Amino acid sequence: MKKQRKKRRIFKATASVLYCVLVITLIVGCFIDEDSASLVRINQSNAAQMSELYLFNPYRDVDWDSVGHYRANLHAHTNRSDGRHTPAYVIAKYQELGYDFLAITEHNRVTYPWTDFGHIPRPQKGGLFDGLTTQAIAGNELSRGHHVVSLFTDFNAHWWRHRNARDKLTAGSAHGSGEGRFFLAHPGRYVPHPQFLDLPFWGHNLEFYVGMYLDFPSLVGMEVFNQADRYRHDRKIYDRVLSELMPHRPVWAIAADDNHGRHYGFNKVTMLLTEPTIDNFRQGLERGVFFSSSFGRFNPQKLDEQAGQAGARWDYVPSVERIDVCAQTGYINIIANNYTDIIWTTYRGREAGRGGIINYRQNSHAYRFLRATLVNEIDGELIAQTLVQPFGIGEYCSDSWWFYF
Ligand SMILES: [Zn+2]
Repeated sequence: MKKQRKKRRIFKATASVLYCVLVITLIVGCFIDEDSASLVRINQSNAAQMSELYLFNPYRDVDWDSVGHYRANLHAHTNRSDGRHTPAYVIAKYQELGYDFLAITEHNRVTYPWTDFGHIPRPQKGGLFDGLTTQAIAGNELSRGHHVVSLFTDFNAHWWRHRNARDKLTAGSAHGSGEGRFFLAHPGRYVPHPQFLDLPFWGHNLEFYVGMYLDFPSLVGMEVFNQADRYRHDRKIYDRVLSELMPHRPVWAIAADDNHGRHYGFNKVTMLLTEPTIDNFRQGLERGVFFSSSFGRFNPQKLDEQAGQAGARWDYVPSVERIDVCAQTGYINIIANNYTDIIWTTYRGREAGRGGIINYRQNSHAYRFLRATLVNEIDGELIAQTLVQPFGIGEYCSDSWWFYF
């Protein structure tokens, strides 16, 4: 009797240990990275195609000597949705910080044109709009399901008919004369950990993101910095999406304040334009002719206070002066200011190199895309960073990739 009970106990213990091992194996299996498998693929591909690689350079038409650099925030809230301040205050604040363009993007609400809202003073002598140089970009944050920031259009999603990102983009892209352009806001909110991208049952997995970008040409970008740096793995999601889509379907990196009252001037987009018009801005956004910068978790207000001047913070942000590409040799050369290092990222977020110069033909990691991040550290503290848009690396030459519109 006693022996039997002992046997049963041993059996039970063994069974539960086995069960635990099985469960752990399953969990680890789900989350394991396929890095080793893809590494082989990269090396094979690079070795075979080394001499046949083409670089798709979003900045190739830029005349660096004459182009203007224009500061923009493409995501902001006022008290017309859940922001703290009035539209007038928000506009004045961005004007003060030297922004050339601002999109007010309420939740499912259009605050545009700015002058149409009762609590925004109309242009008048001595009023807010005297000397206002910040230009308005029509905007809206379509906020059911995955948030989508909508620009250049007064489109507003229907509260019942457009329930998810796909519905909203289908309707938004067709609205008006199709002038709307869109980007996905804070993907990190919908993907609790980058490994969730590989889970088939997860609604916002890699298949979802890739499908959205393939199906909607009007979806031009993805937020990689939101507010300060609210969702740290936004960039990891971004790199996974690029790894699937590049070089033929670029997705541009966007840093935006998503300001609700506490994040004025933490992030910006620097658009390269010959003339600062709304049409030119839209084209620049489509073709990735811009940089995205962020102070991340560093509070830039400190820099303004130190200098006693609003906007003094911008002197600490890495700024790109020119990018030279030599197709014959394969060199990409970035000339910039206010930075301490440049980090090159490629397939699946892997680091491909450091410094201003990289060779996309000879670099053994470079696969499908290369993108540069310029960082500025002072005494070991990361103050600000600037993201250069991804260069596509392809095995045959095609110009179609950016001419969707
Ligand atoms: Zn928002």
